[in-house]
Amino acid sequence: MADRQEEKLEYLPEEAVFRRNAFILITTMVDLSNQTPQDTSMLVEEVLHTLFFLGVINCPPFSPRSLLDDDDEILDYLKIEYPLPFQLYLTQLPRRSPFSCLLDMVVSLYGQENEDQIKDKLKIIVHQMKEGTNLQILFSSTICISRINSSSRRYYGVSMSTKGRPAGEILVASSCFSFWHRLVSDAVMTYYPDKQKKSYFSRNIKIPTDIKCEAFNISEGRPMDPCTSCSDLFGLDTNECRRWAHGSCAEVESLSNLFKGEQLVMEGLGPDENEQEDRLRAERRVINHLKNQLKIFKDFNWDGKFYSNLNPNTN
Ligand SMILES: [Zn+2]
Repeated sequence: MADRQEEKLEYLPEEAVFRRNAFILITTMVDLSNQTPQDTSMLVEEVLHTLFFLGVINCPPFSPRSLLDDDDEILDYLKIEYPLPFQLYLTQLPRRSPFSCLLDMVVSLYGQENEDQIKDKLKIIVHQMKEGTNLQILFSSTICISRINSSSRRYYGVSMSTKGRPAGEILVASSCFSFWHRLVSDAVMTYYPDKQKKSYFSRNIKIPTDIKCEAFNISEGRPMDPCTSCSDLFGLDTNECRRWAHGSCAEVESLSNLFKGEQLVMEGLGPDENEQEDRLRAERRVINHLKNQLKIFKDFNWDGKFYSNLNPNTN
């Protein structure tokens, strides 16, 4: 009996973890942004917007103020420094999940070549966000690094960091339209949202063998095989039997970043003109699913736009 008592862990309530982790992300982003030599304020803005949006669609919903520990001083400071997220979180969709913004910040700080420092920093932050809970709320569990064998440049990605299903599905759709490289969006839309291949749209890809795409568990550092969904999307070899939702893994973001950075890699795999109509049909399927998901949240009224002015040429 006594042993069992000792084994029983005290977990924080889910709502407290959501607020605490949002607060960790916001304060960490502001802090790191002050350390980067280049202007990274747009990443702080983006993470604020994403978190405010995820707060609104959470059950129970959270206001920006409640995500900021009800601290009016911090709230006022952020409103002055980063006004846009406060104006747009009830009408525009974020294009990606919050940990992805953090990843970009950490890569900006250390430089893409310093893989170990990047992994170590993310591990420290994940540990803070895991404290007192066994739930994965607002942090990523996996990082992926892709590179072409002939080049040393690394392209990073993290898994989706939301909480719960509608949020994850909404952000996958959002990323398809506004964040990922077109080839990656097309591969994901081949399966999303029905989890099976569309009969009329087949744009899954086979990445060339000279591309290295390696994923690691952020907390433990151990390498991870791609899941079967990533094998569907990119033709990656795997011994893994598990399957996550198409588009939610670190491989997706990492390969998308590689395609954006290495224009020639997938040359010849671009969209076929004849497929334009089928693509529009696939897009309509995704957008209808997205709108249905959003209907549940009465406080959010989508104006059809995605919050971003970072990479207008991502698609
Ligand atoms: Zn996967």
